[in-house]
Amino acid sequence: MRPKIIAGNWKMFKTPEESKDLINGIKIKLTVPLGNTKVIVCPPFTSLSLVQALLTGSSIALGAQNMYLEDEGAFTGEISPKMLRSVGCTYVILGHSERRQYFNETNEFINRKARKALSSGLTPIICVGETLEQREKNITDQIVTTQVKGVLREISSSEVENLIIAYEPIWAIGTGKTATPAQAQEVHLLIRKIIGQTYSWATAEKVVIQYGGSVKPENSRELLTQSDIDGALVGGACLKAESFVTIVENAILTSKK
Ligand code: PEP
Repeated sequence: MRPKIIAGNWKMFKTPEESKDLINGIKIKLTVPLGNTKVIVCPPFTSLSLVQALLTGSSIALGAQNMYLEDEGAFTGEISPKMLRSVGCTYVILGHSERRQYFNETNEFINRKARKALSSGLTPIICVGETLEQREKNITDQIVTTQVKGVLREISSSEVENLIIAYEPIWAIGTGKTATPAQAQEVHLLIRKIIGQTYSWATAEKVVIQYGGSVKPENSRELLTQSDIDGALVGGACLKAESFVTIVENAILTSKK
């Protein structure tokens, strides 16, 4: 059975002091056993070491929000997978729509980063999703198919089982608008089918596909009950310990079904 994986994308929020309060709050409030649910926090680079230290002995994993695709070199302002590993990261978000939009990241570049992450022992959480305009033009399937095929290029079937795809409709990110559970499930199934056609159905069944886009305590349960929604990538609601932990608790409840 696929695990449910809840990841919190802290984006460009939280100073080290604020990060300390948030992670301590999550640890205090998260008292139920995780079972088949995994929890990841992705603070900004400046808080990674501190959060790692505070996570010692906890089953919460650490992730970063981005990385470059070399281990070291003259790449001013960039952070390497080797550096992320050295501060305890085991996950990295790649190709978030904000990186695609503000930093011009393409499927090809995200694919190169994903391959580097995998060979560096990091699990990439690769984001895909359509804009509102694309949804209204009824080209969601086409857009998501191109993105999924593009970001998975030259990734082997054993590697693909070790990555996470996050379906994040751009119109639902930070807007308060959520895809309905049925809308999300439809695209998740499409993504699984693309993976099935590219690799095999057995492989596709193993890949975790998260939903992201205004996930909140109130809508998380219904979303997470959908058969192809294996977790959530949470932005706004992960910045408060209480709402993040409620989403995690809902994931635990739905994975028991
Ligand atoms: C995100 O940043 O990946 C995200 C889904 O944000 P939000 O939950 O705020 O929509």
